[in-house]
Amino acid sequence: ERLVSSEAELDESYLEQSLRPQNLAQYIGQDKVKENLKVFIEAAKMRSETLDHVLLYGPPGLGKTTLATIIAGEMGVNIRTTSGPAIERPGDLAAILTALEPGDVLFIDEIHRLQRSIEEVLYPAMEDFCLDIVIGKGSTARSVRLDLPPFTLVGATTRVGLLTAPLRDRFGVLSRLEYYTESQLANIVERTAEILAIGIETEGALEIARRSRGTPRIANRLLRRVRDFAQVIGENSISNLLANDALERLQVDRLGLDHIDHKLLLGIIEKFRGGPVGIDTISATIGEESHTIEDVYEPYLLQIGFLQRTPRGRIVTELVYKHFQMEVPET
Ligand code: ADP
Repeated sequence: ERLVSSEAELDESYLEQSLRPQNLAQYIGQDKVKENLKVFIEAAKMRSETLDHVLLYGPPGLGKTTLATIIAGEMGVNIRTTSGPAIERPGDLAAILTALEPGDVLFIDEIHRLQRSIEEVLYPAMEDFCLDIVIGKGSTARSVRLDLPPFTLVGATTRVGLLTAPLRDRFGVLSRLEYYTESQLANIVERTAEILAIGIETEGALEIARRSRGTPRIANRLLRRVRDFAQVIGENSISNLLANDALERLQVDRLGLDHIDHKLLLGIIEKFRGGPVGIDTISATIGEESHTIEDVYEPYLLQIGFLQRTPRGRIVTELVYKHFQMEVPET
């Protein structure tokens, strides 16, 4: 179990629902994305049209699903939720599309994992709100066009680079979610603490924020673990000291890095003199799949400048040596 994983876990989903902000005003941070969406939503409503298709991309846990739900709420329509891997046949997607009500938001998470044959069903659906269905087989086969209700597709992906160009081009709005700042995360922690009915001091919230890897999902998870510590020792408010102590025990270091990050960074230093080293070699060394390293572990390490990607592989930067209080090697 990885405490600082930004991926959702099963038992978390119910709680996440209750912590989700309900409208744009409650959605903290991502100001540029929010401002743009506000304008597009208002304009679509003024024209009584559906909102253009929206693609949300960025690392896991930054609020893509939350934002999709908020978009539907602000438009005053229902949201249907599915995901790339859940749609196995073109017929599955056709069934979902024909069941939509006019104006509905269709949310497809992990949209980069849609199979190509299924993607092709989406093209006319997104462009002209219709389905091309082939009836019959062989020489008697003919294609029939079925009209669909107008709808808004909201796609979410952690890997925008894996989207095919024809699919990407059919989105009118492309929004990239960024890692959150410490103070934004502290606000999120304070809001969650209120919902969970636990007191928290500003410094306590900041301490949790600092160790949350820029990610609301992690901030909320760390808060819940710190709350456990608080309750066990009979505290009803989380101070900086308490948060600090609890997070130390949970082995989340002061930058939010855990044993897997340590293994990855120290592995590159100890076995490859700091790099460059290829992703597959790192993968074999630390026993994690390379796409997991690329999707989950690496983005934050790149963001804080601990890792650099070069044509010859990954290298660790001086900051890593300093973080581990190691001597920076001469170059
Ligand atoms: P993603 O779909 O990008 O993996 P989610 O939308 O599931 O992320 O968000 C994960 C959790 O983080 C949710 O429970 C939500 O409560 C919280 N969260 C995300 N973004 C925000 C935000 N901007 N403000 C407050 N809470 C947020």
